[in-house]
Amino acid sequence: MEPVDALRRIAFLLERSRASTYRVEAYRSAAKAILPLGEDEVRRRVTDRTLRDIPGIGPSTSTVIEQAVAGQVPDKLAELETESAGPLAEGGEELRAALRGDLHSHSDWSDGGSPIEEMVATAMELGHEYLALTDHSPRLTVANGLTAERLRRQLGVVDAINTHTGDAFTLLKAIEVDILDDGTLDQEPGLLGELDVRVASVHSKLAMGSTAMTRRMLTAVGDPLTNVLGHCTGRMVMPRAGDRAGDRSGRRGGGRTRAQSTFDARAVFEACAESGTAVEINSRPERQDPPEDLMALALELGCLFALSTDAHAPGQLDFLAYGCARAEKVGVPPGLIVNTWPLEDLLEWAAPGG
Ligand SMILES: [Zn+2]
Ligand SMILES: [Zn+2]
Repeated sequence: MEPVDALRRIAFLLERSRASTYRVEAYRSAAKAILPLGEDEVRRRVTDRTLRDIPGIGPSTSTVIEQAVAGQVPDKLAELETESAGPLAEGGEELRAALRGDLHSHSDWSDGGSPIEEMVATAMELGHEYLALTDHSPRLTVANGLTAERLRRQLGVVDAINTHTGDAFTLLKAIEVDILDDGTLDQEPGLLGELDVRVASVHSKLAMGSTAMTRRMLTAVGDPLTNVLGHCTGRMVMPRAGDRAGDRSGRRGGGRTRAQSTFDARAVFEACAESGTAVEINSRPERQDPPEDLMALALELGCLFALSTDAHAPGQLDFLAYGCARAEKVGVPPGLIVNTWPLEDLLEWAAPGG
């Protein structure tokens, strides 16, 4: 195993088990530091014992590199593979196998912890055919939301990546757009229209009264640009992983649980069913949103679903297993989950007016 692959695999396993940012960062930085050096140079530095002169390489990461160069499975990796490499959840395996991609992920352009390329590499390693890059919108300044200008620039990066990955994989142009207080979407409509997929979520004033929140959500769901209603209740059932895992999302008011927003779920899901908007099944362990009773109600009312990770670090792309276990428990058929669909069908459904 190449040293870079060993370091990346360790980071991945730590992230999916929600280890501390600090622990994960060391492995990600070390992989980044030796990537441009090339195999011979890394080997030479191991022999000369000068690995640790490279900024970003510390005691534990240099051991991993030395052991990988010596043709061994690094101890740290062997330990993690034994301890934590198994499936994250029990149940939902068939559904997991049916998923072709993920419609909710963040990069370091907003509050994710890793570059877009790293998210893509990991998504491809997980066997995804597509991944929607859904960085935040302008008003979510605490999450470094993208202005129209930055989003336009990001679309160019997405194009370049897709040229590279070819037919094997597609990075979808997307956004997690804030649902503003009046239900409108926090980005220029024209620019939103250029994207492949739009996830709309409430991130502010989560405790507003039920009538106002219902009106707000109905306006967003009724917008022809909205494809997916993200984490609809906003609840946090445990402290955010960001406080402990390789992402930056937990820095905003993290560490606390949060009650779900109150709204007329029947009215909102009826509107979703009517407009073909998918209700997101958010797989993050701290969100588990919607709760099972609401997921069952959405199913009863004929909604489509998007089963997504909301990953803020590459390892979190594996959180799909949690969402699959919950969806199976409620009995959501795979065919109603839009990210089990082939890319072509997904794009047709998501196209404004599609
Ligand atoms: Zn969100
Ligand atoms: Zn998100």
